[in-house]
Amino acid sequence: MPPIQVRNVSKYYGSVKALHNVDLDINDGEYVVMLGPSGCGKTTLLKSIAGIIDLSSGSISISGQEVTGLPPEDRGIGFVFQNYALFTHMTALENASYGLMARGETRERAKRIGRDMLRLVHLAERERAMPKELSGGMQQRLAIARAMATGSKLLLLDEPMNALDAHIRTELRVELRRMVKQLGLTAIHVTHDQEEAMALADKIIIMRKGKVLQVGTPKEVYANPSSPFVASFLGEANFVRVTFDNGLATLLGQNVKTKLEGPYIACIRPENLRLDHKGAKIKVTNLRPFGPFFKYDVDYNGLQLSVRTTHDHGDISHLTYDPAEVLYFKEPEEGLEKSLEAV
Ligand code: ADP
Ligand code: MG
Repeated sequence: MPPIQVRNVSKYYGSVKALHNVDLDINDGEYVVMLGPSGCGKTTLLKSIAGIIDLSSGSISISGQEVTGLPPEDRGIGFVFQNYALFTHMTALENASYGLMARGETRERAKRIGRDMLRLVHLAERERAMPKELSGGMQQRLAIARAMATGSKLLLLDEPMNALDAHIRTELRVELRRMVKQLGLTAIHVTHDQEEAMALADKIIIMRKGKVLQVGTPKEVYANPSSPFVASFLGEANFVRVTFDNGLATLLGQNVKTKLEGPYIACIRPENLRLDHKGAKIKVTNLRPFGPFFKYDVDYNGLQLSVRTTHDHGDISHLTYDPAEVLYFKEPEEGLEKSLEAV
């Protein structure tokens, strides 16, 4: 079925440019997560791959076959929408087997496969239930079962966890990845939740304003973000302006040496700042326990920084860091503050 190639795809809605020259490669069997703020074009890109909307320009191919212009039913895709879109007048089993019957499978075979899928999403016992008798998490699992029952090797999921409580989301994403891997599917999953992306993805695609900013494994994009926006979208980041002179600069009270010259933006994750009894003099302005860790807001010479620690440091007055854990970025053309905005 896959791989999928997206080449130079743009999409306008009137004067709104929802996608700008998007290029993307998705390999067979990959769990791909498209991550980005609301309005960045994630749904538009997913619908372009599904064939639900027409492209303004560019092309898409699936398994080496150009599908640009082909209707969704000829692309062999299972789609799970943001709101489950279950058939309310059908039982769980009828929902799960509907797509197969619509494709001309016999009733018996459709039911058998439908039951297999219900078992996979742990709903076998509820096959006679109507959607409204199921919890939100169950309805979501049913929507996934229905999409997988079509037998398509490519599963497209548009913010499938949105309507669910936090702890059910966490549970369901583990299940979802397991099922996709077990069935050997390729999944493209859209979310604006960075934690969900990290937990699910083999490959994360980070988008902003209709463009793909970076593609990589969760580890790569977190450790080596290509811009301040990516760094801050994937987790908290402290940004500090610094100017190198012959590769030397002072950053948060420490001397740092690099191969850089001129003005840069230093980026340090809250977990890489250490509260200490030496180093830069700071003032704690806020301390909040966050379950397994603590979050401090501190002030360093009028600069607000966020620090994350594993234990309570009480009344602490200094801060240090390891220079090896600092990332440096060139000032974005539009300016740092503007470059961090979602739209
Ligand atoms: P996301 O899924 O990342 O939130 P979308 O792909 O839904 O983003 O939207 C991208 C941009 O295109 C947004 O500016 C949105 O308002 C616009 N858009 C989406 N669908 C339509 C439409 N049918 N008509 C006009 N504008 C649209
Ligand atoms: Mg969307």
